[in-house]
Amino acid sequence: MAEHPVIEIQDLHKCYGELEVLKGVDIKAKRGDVVSLIGSSGSGKSTLLRCVNLLENSQQGEVLFEGEAVHWKGSGLSRHPANRAQMIRIRTNLSMVFQQFNLWAHMTILQNVMEAPVTVLGRNKAEAEAAARRYLDKVGIGDKCDVYPAQLSGGQQQRAAIARALAMEPKALLFDEPTSALDPELEQEVIRVIKALAAEGRTMLIVTHDMNLAHDVSDHVVFLHQGLIEEEGTPEAVFDTPQSNRLQQFLSAGK
Ligand code: ADP
Ligand code: MG
Repeated sequence: MAEHPVIEIQDLHKCYGELEVLKGVDIKAKRGDVVSLIGSSGSGKSTLLRCVNLLENSQQGEVLFEGEAVHWKGSGLSRHPANRAQMIRIRTNLSMVFQQFNLWAHMTILQNVMEAPVTVLGRNKAEAEAAARRYLDKVGIGDKCDVYPAQLSGGQQQRAAIARALAMEPKALLFDEPTSALDPELEQEVIRVIKALAAEGRTMLIVTHDMNLAHDVSDHVVFLHQGLIEEEGTPEAVFDTPQSNRLQQFLSAGK
């Protein structure tokens, strides 16, 4: 039997009160796929990632992880996963990297990377520390283990956040505008890390405003407009020969 996609979003609808933010979205990421999500501010990109990572529940449709649907109970706003163990397993397998890094300010960089493997996955401390040092080396800040987040540049903090996500050994990485809080010269050091992860064959869902990044790393690009997929395809198709007026406008506005 064919392997299930790592992430499969089927007909996802999400409302906040009267506001329908996602109006039926389908996205699939097979193992090793890099899927980028582009679209104007407010088009629902962060909401979509938050639904994938079970930070939000949806009103209709499914998010499947390796073919497995989440068991929700109840309806409407009171819906929550009936199976907490399932939620934790899925969430730890889909590590998220946020725009604002979200490192723990009172912990050193090493402690930030070790924390969840020890407390959530139950790894022993020596093992978790060795792994954390490896991941910090991998993102090029192995010499920053003992400092606190405030002592690092934004680019270094974001690389620490990526190391922290990798330390969970997730099946997929979710990025929400990972470079948009950074100065242009610091963006590049984070982009290099993301490109290296793509080259390793990691499964990633990347929300980005950086069209060069989306063009260079993606297998598939999805353009979201007002909660619906307006156009999608290979990076070449989406960026070189956009079909819809809205995508053409969106791309030329960014130039
Ligand atoms: P994007 O990431 O594409 O900029 P978002 O997913 O953050 O878009 O937001 C999509 C829409 O949903 C926006 O109109 C936003 O104001 C609204 N929204 C997002 N989160 C909430 C929330 N928690 N409560 C109410 N409205 C929200
Ligand atoms: Mg957003």
